[in-house]
Amino acid sequence: YATAHDADIVVIGSGPGGYVAAIKAAQLGMKVVSVEKEPSLGGTCLNVGCIPSKALLHNSHLYHQAKHDFKNRGINISDISFDFKKMMDYKANAVKGLTGGIAMLFQKNKVQLVRGVGTIVAPNKVEVKGENGVETVNTKNILIATGSEVTPFPGVTFDEKQIITSTGALALTEVPKKMLVIGAGVIGLELGSVYQRLGADVTAIEFLNSIGGVGIDGEVGKTLQKVLSKQGMNFKLGTKVLGVRKEGSIVKVDVEAAKGGNKETLECDVVLISIGRRPYTKDLGLDKVGIALDDRGRVPVNDKFQTTVPGIYAIGDVIHGPMLAHKAEDEGIVCVEGIKGLPVHFNYDAIPSVIYTSPEVGWVGKSEEDLKKEGKAYKVGKFPFLANSRAKTNGETDGFVKVLSDKATDVILGTHIIGPGAGELVNEAVLAQEYGAAAEDVARVCHAHPTCAEALREANLAAYAGKPINF
Ligand code: FAD
Ligand code: NAD
Repeated sequence: YATAHDADIVVIGSGPGGYVAAIKAAQLGMKVVSVEKEPSLGGTCLNVGCIPSKALLHNSHLYHQAKHDFKNRGINISDISFDFKKMMDYKANAVKGLTGGIAMLFQKNKVQLVRGVGTIVAPNKVEVKGENGVETVNTKNILIATGSEVTPFPGVTFDEKQIITSTGALALTEVPKKMLVIGAGVIGLELGSVYQRLGADVTAIEFLNSIGGVGIDGEVGKTLQKVLSKQGMNFKLGTKVLGVRKEGSIVKVDVEAAKGGNKETLECDVVLISIGRRPYTKDLGLDKVGIALDDRGRVPVNDKFQTTVPGIYAIGDVIHGPMLAHKAEDEGIVCVEGIKGLPVHFNYDAIPSVIYTSPEVGWVGKSEEDLKKEGKAYKVGKFPFLANSRAKTNGETDGFVKVLSDKATDVILGTHIIGPGAGELVNEAVLAQEYGAAAEDVARVCHAHPTCAEALREANLAAYAGKPINF
């Protein structure tokens, strides 16, 4: 049977972009329908992305520390081992708690959830095909927040047991003995770290000569590679993968040097393919309303997140920009504010990136490579965690903070952190950059002692005055 609903806005997709936009729209007084095809709310991030990966990263880090580092700190525990099933159950519980939380927030904010696959059949009409048949929603506005999916590797079929995507890597039933990772970007480094800490022999194969993916500062990338290598992760950079095949219970990966020549075949139990993600617009019906995708499969939007069809908007992984949960959320908020007539402002230069390895990496703004390419004159202020009292006391001295500021005006252009708590600390740098701060502004802000955040202050001091105090 068919049910009809009326709405001011239909949000298709309940990932971090969609669910946050739906709640904000309801708070602004709109009648909101959220459409989701999966049984669990929260999209990639909560179900098979940010949240489950961080649960495994945190617990594998605690295990690794207990096994390899506690003794140095005067803590003796014998028979340290792990229960992989329990770690996975812990991860599943973290996901369940947070996805269930969205359902509660929807109720609290009176967002109506319609379950099923949403298709735009006209600029003011969405059809939802679900277990209850087809439901129709007549609406004033439509927000596309359908996210992204794994980029497939040509000629490779994922069985999600031995030839896996990140989703399979979050659901293995045992730790592989030998794991190959294709693509040493964010996913490869994070999930590679998880299994390396749990005892797998991990090698990451990367086409480029650097690790960490797009936007990472070259010096930070090199330092990260050095630290992860010290922890036992292996890297094969400048290497092209020619093919992946299964022979019995073994997976074989044929590679050659990116420059050509030198072919070789590597073997493993499990290969994780993490070479990027692509926008997801299947079944959305964009052709029916005349929205054409760009050359990278993204939904084109203007700076108010409007598509070429009036009343239809798009945000998150399905549009341009970095594929990050916080970027999707913030776009969702300003997009629906714009629909209500409020100003729409989004600063793409102040979106933080974090890689949740140990140590963490966090950055915002331009890298040295970006600035050199732009021909911009800049100053560098650097401060090593080795000279930071808290990092030294805690025995977590790998890494540094690097601040890049405008040579003429001292305005901060980029901040790059590798070290303890970088993922938290980077938010202070984002705040400074969003407010247009100069390096001197941050250097003159009183910072609590002893904290790792003092390293950020010292790097800003070095950028503006030429010298830090403690190094
Ligand atoms: P998504 O989260 O992809 O949500 C889209 C939703 O739309 C899905 O629920 C989908 O089922 C639904 N949908 C699609 N089409 C339809 C349709 N036609 N009808 C109904 N529903 C539909 N980002 C970070 O910022 N930090 C991290 O630590 C991080 N870790 C990650 C780890 C992994 C392993 C992965 C894969 C990604 C990670 N990301 C991380 C990226 C992050 O998950 C995405 O940037 C984010 O989820 C994008 O949000 P979104 O709302 O645009 O789309
Ligand atoms: P990525 O773009 O970060 O890294 C992909 C890597 O694979 C790059 O280094 C690229 O050079 C390499 N590569 C591409 N093709 C290759 C090939 N044929 N052979 C060898 N190497 C190849 O992509 P990802 O790690 O798959 O992550 C996907 C998205 O998910 C990213 O956009 C990221 O923003 C998001 N994500 C974010 C986080 C986080 O914020 N902590 C964590 C996980 C994922």
